[in-house]
Amino acid sequence: MRFTSILVSVTEICTVGCRHCGFTGSTRDRQPTVDEIGRWVTQACDSGIPEIIFTGGEPFQRFRMLKSGVRAAAGHPRKPRISVFTSSFWGRSPAAVDKILGQLPGLTRLYLSTDVYHQERVPSQYVVNVIEGAIAREIPEISLCITIAEDHEEERIRSIYRRFEDRVRVHVDRVIPTPFINTAQQTGLPPVPENFAASCYLDTPLINPNGDLSACHIGKAGAYVRLSDLAYFLGNLHEKSFQEILADADRNYEYQFLRVYGPQGVARMVASSPAVRKLFKGTTFTNGCDLCYKLLRSLDGRARLREIVADPFQRELIDAMRLVRFGERAGASPADAPQPVRSGI
Ligand code: SF4
Repeated sequence: MRFTSILVSVTEICTVGCRHCGFTGSTRDRQPTVDEIGRWVTQACDSGIPEIIFTGGEPFQRFRMLKSGVRAAAGHPRKPRISVFTSSFWGRSPAAVDKILGQLPGLTRLYLSTDVYHQERVPSQYVVNVIEGAIAREIPEISLCITIAEDHEEERIRSIYRRFEDRVRVHVDRVIPTPFINTAQQTGLPPVPENFAASCYLDTPLINPNGDLSACHIGKAGAYVRLSDLAYFLGNLHEKSFQEILADADRNYEYQFLRVYGPQGVARMVASSPAVRKLFKGTTFTNGCDLCYKLLRSLDGRARLREIVADPFQRELIDAMRLVRFGERAGASPADAPQPVRSGI
């Protein structure tokens, strides 16, 4: 299996406190040691993952940890791309930005989260300061990550950064409802396959601060709920090496089901199970991850996935889909796998 990138969460701590954040209201205080971050980043680089993306929490709130991770990646012979997600809360002035970015040599991309929710807590001028500082420091890629609940929010945010449009990339996604914000009733989609894509963010796994390796960004929810019995959980880096966890994941058909069918396959699970259909009758979802997470956290949803992957015919189909979609054979050694295709998220 090959991945286009990996998220490394250097801390769960973030005091920005945006209204739409899935972490809001939760206790989240886990963070690794500086040595652990360096070791995990090195293992991810050893396995050939071409981009290391530091995230949190707010990674700039544990700057020593972030610097250690960036240093480990920048010093690795494979020379991965090195990216970091941030709210830009530290962009108070051009001088402050320059001082901070000057301590992160090797950084190749900034993902700046900016939307109506972040702007309630972080002035857009801070984001502008970070964009200008990154341009001055010749950081090659700058991406704006806009999370919206309603369509008009996108244009409102884009217009603030119009003058940078030939320099920044924009990524827009729908908010996943939280106890503090729920827009699924207004803008949500019923769980039918044609509403959802067959691919998602599974080419970017996540290392959590406690060493849990998760299939995708949804593993961040491990800060406040137990995920270890869900398909997202791949293993823990305190117990096994990165390569050993990936070898287990290769044989994990619940995980491979998600890889080959994506949220569209999850929607098909709803359609094919009377119990799950009944459970989600009348429920709508803001995006594929919202659907996937709610379904897999339900007992009926988990039971349905286990039932599907217990069927030898379904396993053969999954293996065939892996070959068609990713050019990979189940159980093949990493050396036999195709080289990764680079792309943004
Ligand atoms: S659809 Fe599910 S498996 Fe895919 S990225 Fe979203 S939460 Fe993860």
